[in-house]
Amino acid sequence: MPALAQKRSRPVDKRSAARDKLWKSLLKWYDREGRDLPWRLRDGTADPYRVWLSEIMLQQTTVAAVAPYFTRFLERWPSVEALARAPRDDVLGAWAGLGYYSRARNLHAAAQAMAASGVPQSEAGWRELKGVGPYTAAAIAAIAFDEATNVVDGNVERVIARLRAVETPLPDAKAELRALAGALVTADRPGDWAQALMDLGATVCTPRSPKCEACPWMAECAAMRTAARNVSAPRGEGGAPAPIWRGLSGSSATANFGWCGGRTKVCSVAWRRCRRPNGATRNGRAPRR
Ligand code: SF4
Repeated sequence: MPALAQKRSRPVDKRSAARDKLWKSLLKWYDREGRDLPWRLRDGTADPYRVWLSEIMLQQTTVAAVAPYFTRFLERWPSVEALARAPRDDVLGAWAGLGYYSRARNLHAAAQAMAASGVPQSEAGWRELKGVGPYTAAAIAAIAFDEATNVVDGNVERVIARLRAVETPLPDAKAELRALAGALVTADRPGDWAQALMDLGATVCTPRSPKCEACPWMAECAAMRTAARNVSAPRGEGGAPAPIWRGLSGSSATANFGWCGGRTKVCSVAWRRCRRPNGATRNGRAPRR
C-alpha cells in the first residue's frame, strides 16, 4: 500500500490528540511559571523525604504557613533516619504552631516505620503508613516516584469542573471529576503533571476571579467555549442590554463560576448569590428573594 494511503487510513484518535494538547500546554506553562517551593526541586529530581514531609505539613495548611516549618525541620532532621531517631517530644515541639498535632505524631511513627522497613516505592505502599491518606499517597507516589497516579484535591476538582464544564454540584460530582482527571494522567512526567495542576488551581484557576487570560488551557476550556457560544445580551426595556445568566455555573464551594451576558470574563460568583443589575439568574429569570 502506498505510504500516503497508509497514512490516510490510520484512524485519528481525537481524544488522545486533545489530551496531548492539554498535556503539552500545561507542562509548558509549568516549566515556565511553576512555583518555586522549598520542597520542590526543579531539576527533574525529587527527594521522597522532602515530598512526604511537605505533603504531611500541607494537609489542611497553606503553603505560606508550611514553608518556614519545612525549612526548619529539614535543617534539624535532614533525613528520614534522623527524624526517626529524634525524641517524639522534640518533633512535637518543632511542630508547635502548625496545628493538627496528630500529623506530627503520625509523622514520627511513619519515620520510624520507614527507618525500619524502608521507604515505600508505590502509592499502595505509602497508604500503609500512618497519616498518609489516599490523596497524600497519590501525590507522593507521583511527585517522588513518577508513578502515574490520579492526584485530586479541591483545587484539581475545581479546575477539571471548569475545563470540562461539569455542572453537578459537589459532593455528587466527585466521582465524575476524579474520572475526568484520571483520563488526563499519562506515564509521561506524572509528577510534574500533578504539580502543574496544583499550581494552576492555586495561582490561575482560583476559586474567585480566575485569571483565564493567563491560563494555558484557555483555548481548550469548555467553560470558556460554552460561554462564547451561549452568552447573549438580549435587549431589555428601553433598548438597553439586559444581563442574562447563561453559560456555566457551579453551586459548590469549589466550582463557582459562570458568565453573565455582556461579560467576556469568567465570573466567580455562585449563581445563587449572583445579583446582576436586573437580578437575572442563569436562566434569565428573576431570582426568588
Ligand atoms: S480558562 Fe479560566 S476557567 Fe478555564 S481552566 Fe483556565 S483559569 Fe480555569
